[in-house]
Amino acid sequence: MLVARTNWDVPKHRGLTYFALPMRQPGVEVRPLKQMNYHDSFNEVFMTDAVIPKENVVGDIGGGWACALTTLSYERRFASLGRSDLRATGRTIDEARREAEEYFSTYAWYPQRAGRFDLAIDFAQRAGSKDDPLVRQELARLITMQRVSSWTASRAAAARAMGRPPGAEGSIGKLSLSHLARQAARVHSMIGGAQGMLSGPGSPYGGVIAEVLISVPAQSIAGGTDEIQRNILGERVLGLPREPADSDVPFRDVRRNA
Ligand SMILES: Cc1cc2nc3c(=O)[nH]c(=O)nc-3n(C[C@H](O)[C@H](O)[C@H](O)COP(=O)(O)OP(=O)(O)OC[C@H]3O[C@@H](n4cnc5c(N)ncnc54)[C@H](O)[C@@H]3O)c2cc1C
Repeated sequence: MLVARTNWDVPKHRGLTYFALPMRQPGVEVRPLKQMNYHDSFNEVFMTDAVIPKENVVGDIGGGWACALTTLSYERRFASLGRSDLRATGRTIDEARREAEEYFSTYAWYPQRAGRFDLAIDFAQRAGSKDDPLVRQELARLITMQRVSSWTASRAAAARAMGRPPGAEGSIGKLSLSHLARQAARVHSMIGGAQGMLSGPGSPYGGVIAEVLISVPAQSIAGGTDEIQRNILGERVLGLPREPADSDVPFRDVRRNA
């Protein structure tokens, strides 16, 4: 699926077109991105003079934004396929299931990205630092943050169950998960010291702590960065002046870096 800018003379959300790009052709190069935690969940895709037949345009020319939003809502539903105990068989469903398994393998490190706060108390006990007042203080802070964060999530779920539209809880929740992940990494570092950086046999939790330390930064980026969440909260909750969006000017005239 390729969403490409096809018109520079209309506002930025118009002027995008959605294509089904044949990936197996000269001029399409997929380069896996090796992450610092050794996983490679993402690719860079380079297209040089790649060709798309015109019948591969999905939707209207210039209507790609709406198609992209529809794709994202299906992506979430597709994601649940691998976890369902769907009994149907057949070529299409088997292929979809295999694809879903492949898709889920990219998430193997996501619990580490969230900080693994669940290991912190056990780690402190095993490492003999459970009586260290500084470790206890940071552990208490971590547990407090985790409780508050889960209450925010429950509040959002309750509001949704009552039929209220999603509100600021989403941004508060996303931001608090970033804080929580960083605090968990901080606690793991205090407890583990230099040992926490080791992976392989004999390392804390078989290298899981090391994976936490190098995966947590992604929590503040994926799904909307901390800065974007703060912008949303500033504008929609605190009522601060909106930042310039240039939504009405032709894309050609949108302000950009040099
Ligand atoms: C682990 C991981 C998983 C991901 N999974 C998915 C996925 O499943 N689906 C998907 O579609 N995408 C996914 N992404 C992409 C992710 O949504 C983007 O990386 C993210 O939204 C940030 O966009 P960007 O990388 O273009 O950074 P940019 O938008 O270029 O931001 C760069 C920096 O500038 C700051 N910045 C940008 N705009 C503003 C502003 N207006 N005000 C203040 N600061 C600003 C940002 O906070 C950031 O620090 C994933 C990314 C990661 C790291």
